[in-house]
Amino acid sequence: MEPMTADSSSGGFDYLIVGAGFAGSVLAERLASDGRRVLIVDRRPHIGGNAYDRYDDAGILIHPYGPHIFHTNSKDVFDYLSHFTQWRPYEHRVLASVDGQLLPIPINLDTVNRLYGLNLTSFQVEDFFASVAEKVEQVRTSEDVVVSKVGRDLYNKFFRGYTRKQWALDPSELDASVTARVPTRTNRDDRYFADTYQAMPLHGYTRMFENMLSSPNISVMLNTDYRDIVDFIPYRHMIYTGPVDAFFDYCYGKLPYRSLEFVHETHPREQFQPTGTVNYPNDYGYTRISEFKYITGQQHPQTSVVYEYPQAEGDPYYPVPRPENKELYRQYAALADARPDVTFVGRLATYQYYNMDQVVAQALATYRKLKDAPVQPEATPAG
Ligand SMILES: Cc1cc2nc3c(=O)[nH]c(=O)nc-3n(C[C@H](O)[C@H](O)[C@H](O)COP(=O)(O)OP(=O)(O)OC[C@H]3O[C@@H](n4cnc5c(N)ncnc54)[C@H](O)[C@@H]3O)c2cc1C
Repeated sequence: MEPMTADSSSGGFDYLIVGAGFAGSVLAERLASDGRRVLIVDRRPHIGGNAYDRYDDAGILIHPYGPHIFHTNSKDVFDYLSHFTQWRPYEHRVLASVDGQLLPIPINLDTVNRLYGLNLTSFQVEDFFASVAEKVEQVRTSEDVVVSKVGRDLYNKFFRGYTRKQWALDPSELDASVTARVPTRTNRDDRYFADTYQAMPLHGYTRMFENMLSSPNISVMLNTDYRDIVDFIPYRHMIYTGPVDAFFDYCYGKLPYRSLEFVHETHPREQFQPTGTVNYPNDYGYTRISEFKYITGQQHPQTSVVYEYPQAEGDPYYPVPRPENKELYRQYAALADARPDVTFVGRLATYQYYNMDQVVAQALATYRKLKDAPVQPEATPAG
């Protein structure tokens, strides 16, 4: 990773990449490996975007923007990232605090047996779900998805409150996609994810990003909004991974996002809770508490946790999945399509909730397209 030098700036850059998260960093790495000169800028004081991690005052590795657990079914994505990090196998487990008990989520055989004091087998729990499931003619909302699978009581205890806190909307007002990803299991599998590859970067995400950006063809500028430099630095093509509505000066209005406040705490004991994440669907203002040492595997006599409080204002984290928002995004997407000089990629530029592996896959696909595209003449800085 090169600091900005007079040399590189005077020669101009092939690519100006806005945002040093997964989308921007994968593209910077790929293009630099072909000998392209890349300037990557981020307005934050660090690389890694939301996946950035760092050691806190107690010396515990934390994720300032909430727990980031890597999981993928894509061998290509896993193999690609493996050039920049070793891995530590990790399967995430989540418990939900319901009716005074901590119960496995996604709902599985043990969840049902412990909640209702039953002793069902896998076959019997299938019948149980069938007996409580509600008939829904057409599954449209998040509520429909859940009640049609596991019935009203489990929906009320595990999903309704959590979703209302997370989105400040009732599940009946949200797209089916929000809960469609939540599986229900009739066995005792209590892993949160079922993907083939489940592992954490051995030395953390930030170290992995440093390795991705280590080419002499890459210059990194932090604490910099691209708007402050775009008119002064010569480049041929822009790759933009920031919010698409901001790029177009919110000309059609703001794309709605849900934000989070993260409250970090360190406790003077080895362990705070029995698993990596505990969800609180029905009590308190926060949705969940995550304990980093489970996720990172770090040994330390103290422990650090993060509470997540959903809120309307703040950094854009989750696009609000409602049809009218998709429609608004389509208007911005049309403007983006009309800009051949800029490539829009990543979760903010495409107004889509993506996991990290999906963003890596999207960036790799974008790289393949750019690689085959003819190089444009250098953009002339205005002014
Ligand atoms: C709370 C939370 C938990 C998550 N947990 C997981 C998880 O467990 N597993 C998983 O796979 N995924 C998880 N994700 C999703 C993951 O964070 C994203 O997939 C990933 O960060 C997307 O990368 P990106 O490069 O598209 O965006 P980002 O990481 O957001 O990077 C975009 C960058 O652009 C910069 N930028 C924006 N505008 C400008 C500008 N004008 N000038 C300069 N820079 C700018 C921003 O500062 C930012 O650093 C989670 C997301 C959240 C919100």
